[in-house]
Amino acid sequence: MSPTVPRIVMKFGGTSVADLDRIRAVAEKVRKQVEAGCEVAVVVSAMSGVTNRLVGYCRDLSPRHDEREYDTVVATGEQVTSGLLAIALQNLGIKARSWLGWQIPLRTDDAHGKARIESIDGTALIRSMQAGEVPVCAGFQGIGPDGRITTLGRGGSDTSAVALAAALKADRCDIYTDVDGIYTTDPRIVTKARKLHRITYEEMLELASVGAKVLQTRSVELAMKERVRVQVLSSFNDGPAPAEGHLPGSLVVDEDEIVEQEQVAGIAYSRDEAKLSVRRVPDRPGIAAAVFGPLSDANVNVDMIVQSTGDDGMTNMTFTVSKNDLARAIAALDAHRATIQYGELLTDNDVVKISVVGVGMRSHAGVASTMFRTLAERNINVQVISTSEIKVSVLIAAEYTELAVRALHTAYGLDAA
Ligand code: ADP
Ligand code: ASP
Ligand code: MG
Repeated sequence: MSPTVPRIVMKFGGTSVADLDRIRAVAEKVRKQVEAGCEVAVVVSAMSGVTNRLVGYCRDLSPRHDEREYDTVVATGEQVTSGLLAIALQNLGIKARSWLGWQIPLRTDDAHGKARIESIDGTALIRSMQAGEVPVCAGFQGIGPDGRITTLGRGGSDTSAVALAAALKADRCDIYTDVDGIYTTDPRIVTKARKLHRITYEEMLELASVGAKVLQTRSVELAMKERVRVQVLSSFNDGPAPAEGHLPGSLVVDEDEIVEQEQVAGIAYSRDEAKLSVRRVPDRPGIAAAVFGPLSDANVNVDMIVQSTGDDGMTNMTFTVSKNDLARAIAALDAHRATIQYGELLTDNDVVKISVVGVGMRSHAGVASTMFRTLAERNINVQVISTSEIKVSVLIAAEYTELAVRALHTAYGLDAA
């Protein structure tokens, strides 16, 4: 291979391959990239709605199903689209074939339903590209240590694409989706959201981890570690194939590639939060361990935490867990009621976590106070707070999601002109 031939991984998400017309349009996009003189490997998601339906089948049959069989079922969505896109490419006269995770092979650990990639052998895919073929890889899936099919967690095709880009030493990983880039917040709820032409790995990682689902968190983690150039762009535009220097989407880059650093890069929200309050617990050393030990033993991740103690020697612990873990968390606390000695356990599902993120926070004071003042002016009660070096998050009632995100977007000067 001539070292000057650019190598691009193109990933297409669920709405981009939602039906046969969309798959034909994707094939056209791939054709343009090939005709621009690139070696191309493609990664596809399942058609939109398909994974949800497959997950539903497993849950309906048995709420406590075998995770290995769950993976066998949910991985099929991507198998269908990889074959269909290969056919659509062949119809355009492009040599193409489908590759399933086990055929590549893309090896993972055995954590079914949320497996981590351990290694990818890129030899066969590179040989295929060098022979003038386009490999169309099923995203989201891999093969576990015992030879069984695994999946990488919801949204995992982004991670498949970035990992393949690293393994194939691609020049870029283009993530095609239903918006034309990464915005200051979800453009579907804030019409004044502004497109970011560049964003740092660190900010994107933080935004993804607090709910901006435009990229799966692990894909950003991996891109940062492997120095993969990731571009997010729309599959719904009919432009020419993007060429280096004329990239139409948003690029995830190192901090030193950003000229002007804003105080806040973006705002995200997560509806996947449930609040628990363990109330009237005798305040004593070891109480936090007594509450959180059983949760960790039950594999429940605790996110935000606040403790408030009264004059009467009693304390309240309020914290959040993923909505999916709520039932397990309640059961674990209930089983340890005698040792924790709590008066009552309250839960609330109607909450949302709103986060503001920016590396500029390291050098600017006042980001948190602007957040609290803005919410207070709208009469929105803050229930729990948590912070990191480049993030402030608050938990509020879910009904205020849009109002809060829009108000904060304006308050931090992020609105598009
Ligand atoms: P795909 O199926 O292509 O993987 P996703 O639905 O997973 O697409 O991700 C794209 C969606 O992410 C957009 O439709 C948008 O609503 C949402 N989103 C959330 N936050 C942001 C953001 N900051 N910038 C762009 N899109 C965002
Ligand atoms: N189809 C999978 C999902 O819906 C993976 C992906 O789309 O990235 O989660
Ligand atoms: Mg996605």
